[in-house]
Amino acid sequence: MTAQLISGKELSQEKRVEMKSDVEELKRKGITPGLAVIIVGHDPASQTYVRGKQRACEEVGIHSLLIELEEDTKEEELLAKIDELNVDEAIDGILVQLPLPSQINEQAVIEKISPAKDVDGFHPINIGRMMTGQVCFLPCTPHGIVEMVKSQQIELEGKHVVVVGRSNIVGKPVGQLFLNENATVTYCHSRTNDLKQYTTQADILIAAAGKQHLIRGEHIKAGATVIDVGIHRLDNGKLTGDVNFDEAREKAAYITPVPGGVGPMTITMLLHNTILSAKRSRL
Ligand code: NAD
Repeated sequence: MTAQLISGKELSQEKRVEMKSDVEELKRKGITPGLAVIIVGHDPASQTYVRGKQRACEEVGIHSLLIELEEDTKEEELLAKIDELNVDEAIDGILVQLPLPSQINEQAVIEKISPAKDVDGFHPINIGRMMTGQVCFLPCTPHGIVEMVKSQQIELEGKHVVVVGRSNIVGKPVGQLFLNENATVTYCHSRTNDLKQYTTQADILIAAAGKQHLIRGEHIKAGATVIDVGIHRLDNGKLTGDVNFDEAREKAAYITPVPGGVGPMTITMLLHNTILSAKRSRL
């Protein structure tokens, strides 16, 4: 069996076309959705991600404001900047690119962002609302993953979803979203004994461990759906994931590539949240 690709790039393009006309409609009503992105320091990977987000905003007509702060920025300065943006009527979404330099407490920053502008969906209020199935901003990477699986009309109810990784931004919330879809969810992590015992039971396997090619063919049940969240840069400059793609595609029925899989969908769901925020607060 050779797995069918779930292209996050193509699904993103489709969604962004719809978003563009949504934004045009809002603009006719005098509303231009606005996203503020704050980057602290000069981490090259963060700069690449931020540029990608800005380009995507331009593509769909969202106003994007980039705020670049020095590496030695004090926590109070960053919190004060967020306070300003929280009351700025032209800004519907605030995103602080992580990781932050060590002098800044990440959680304090996340909690400073108004939950109504928390388009990353990291604020404890939005996380709590997600867990209890209420209206909220869903975190972008997990939301994008669910959208990719749904795009293939793959049934979720009663399916066994195994998540490898339990970070606050990917692993934990993606499991919660599949639970909300009536799947049965198992979490594996760095202390799990015999990873393969669990992954081979997965109808849908989410690899979000941040370990290059951790998931091999032998970890996959025949006919499973495999979602690769990992991003790793090889010595030759190319990107690869947490899944050994060549082995996995011989076992799985559906698989996401790296690049062109989860990455573009993450940005697309950020655009979605920003437009949603503008509609919620300004229509
Ligand atoms: P993280 O380092 O915060 O968390 C990794 C998790 O994996 C931890 O919970 C850990 O317990 C688990 N883990 C580590 N080694 C393991 C092992 N050998 N077996 C089982 N579990 C193991 O990472 P993160 O922020 O969740 O990101 C994970 C990966 O996804 C990274 O490669 C990151 O670059 C990528 N990522 C991609 C996107 C995207 O848009 N495509 C978004 C966020 C993160």
